[in-house]
Amino acid sequence: VPKKSVDSWTNGEEPSGAGPNQEQESMTTEPGEIQTGADYRESLRDGRCVYFNGERIEDVPSHPRFRAGVQVTASSYDREFERSRNGLASHSDAYPRTQSDLRAQIAEFTSTQAQKDLTWTGTYASLMGIESAASQIQTDHPTYAERIRTFVSTSRSLNRRCMPTITDAKGDRMRAPGEQDDPDQYLRIVDRNTEGIVVKGAKLHIRGASILHDLLVLPTKRMHKGEEDWAVAFATPVNAPGVKIMNSGWAVPEANWAYYPYSKDRTIPFGFVIFDDVFVPWEKVFLCGEIEFSASLVHTYGTWNRLTEAGMMASEADLYVGLGQLLAEANGVDRVWHIRDKLTELILNATLIRAGVEAAIANSIESPDGFLVPAELYTNVAKYYAAMNMPRMMGLLQDIAGGAIVNSPMPGDLECDEMGSFARKYMQGADDVDGEYRTRLMYGARDIASDWFSGYAQVLGLHGAGGPFAHRLVARKVYDIVAAKQHAREALGLDQSGKTD
Ligand SMILES: Cc1cc2nc3c(=O)[nH]c(=O)nc-3n(C[C@H](O)[C@H](O)[C@H](O)COP(=O)(O)OP(=O)(O)OC[C@H]3O[C@@H](n4cnc5c(N)ncnc54)[C@H](O)[C@@H]3O)c2cc1C
Repeated sequence: VPKKSVDSWTNGEEPSGAGPNQEQESMTTEPGEIQTGADYRESLRDGRCVYFNGERIEDVPSHPRFRAGVQVTASSYDREFERSRNGLASHSDAYPRTQSDLRAQIAEFTSTQAQKDLTWTGTYASLMGIESAASQIQTDHPTYAERIRTFVSTSRSLNRRCMPTITDAKGDRMRAPGEQDDPDQYLRIVDRNTEGIVVKGAKLHIRGASILHDLLVLPTKRMHKGEEDWAVAFATPVNAPGVKIMNSGWAVPEANWAYYPYSKDRTIPFGFVIFDDVFVPWEKVFLCGEIEFSASLVHTYGTWNRLTEAGMMASEADLYVGLGQLLAEANGVDRVWHIRDKLTELILNATLIRAGVEAAIANSIESPDGFLVPAELYTNVAKYYAAMNMPRMMGLLQDIAGGAIVNSPMPGDLECDEMGSFARKYMQGADDVDGEYRTRLMYGARDIASDWFSGYAQVLGLHGAGGPFAHRLVARKVYDIVAAKQHAREALGLDQSGKTD
């Protein structure tokens, strides 16, 4: 399949695409290449050590906990496969060389489909992030830079999904890795030999760890002198001996899909990943003791991750606006001044988050390798602002919706001979609004803004891509404070020494 330039998909039409359930015949052209959803499902049957709730999962694709996540990932493979059959390059293969490239990519990787398939967006951000880091370490560590580029190009050509695997267990947060009673609280090198390294530790909260192919392991923070064993970065396949994953969270059973219309296919498993003496060959090692670069990898990745997250949150904020308006109309209060005011507040939030994302793109800078990297300041501020305002936006939706957001009759009641007509009759809102329609609107509002998924989404918004404190640190570090001081002096007619003009 020819790989096309970014223009071929930014300007190209979306092909009709295979339905998510369609298992297509594989047209694998490169050994190990994953093309279709069927290839993807099969690729997960590789002996990986995956647990859920204390039970070893022998067949990941068919287990109820993983089925929804596997399904959306498989359907995005099918969609990309269709694109390539229609001569369009994979989104993930393109390097953004102009702002419009970057804008199109961010739009694509924060689309509704991308929000369902976090492994797709995570792979994009991981590969762009690590490749941006390669440019930075090229001069001092050309071998690592080369290995990173090889990993990126192999992942792309074989269509493998990976996820940044950064967050350590961390033990006592106030103690450095080497000061912990248990040195494994931060993942570390326990052996080095001519073939590679052996690592031990754990990485937590890893999105989709059990349903992707590679873990891209990076240090969680800057390491200092004496912490060389903890300054380690590498990639490892999920099925490497010694990698063991416990999964958390739950998936909506199919029988309840009507009650969870939004979250039903957004239930990616999160991995608590154990590295129990895992061997990593040298060609997959990207950092091994060089403390001075320990923060570079996670830092560059962080920018890409936060921009895609902010983009998704901008899209979610637009969703809140639309949902708020629909709820107001269904309740017949869309012309009431305080409801309109709340909708306006939702609009202001959505627009500011979107503006931050747009500013990050408009102020992107060119990497030494010639592709654009988003501006850190706007990226971090947009993500921070979105995270901090998400609970407020959900609260506004709860206010607009009224108590039916949590207390509407259940889907079974709508279908019940005796109760269905009562449910529809008393769930009617404005005169021309059907009671069942309003009930289903409430299911969506509950699912999005006041049930388990909304709590999860708030925590994902807050801690995903690093907590809010990390965003503030970066914003403060990169904001041009010298220019701001100069601006203030000029405005007040003061010179550098503090004397007036
Ligand atoms: C839904 C979700 C998805 C995620 N996805 C991924 C993923 O795919 N890959 C990945 O690697 N990680 C992922 N994470 C992890 C995420 O990056 C971390 O949760 C985040 O960085 C916070 O770390 P923590 O959870 O260990 O909290 P902690 O570090 O324990 O922080 C708790 C609080 O303590 C404060 N604190 C901690 N240490 C100190 C200190 N030394 N001094 C002062 N204050 C301190 C923090 O600022 C925070 O307020 C995900 C997290 C969530 C919730």
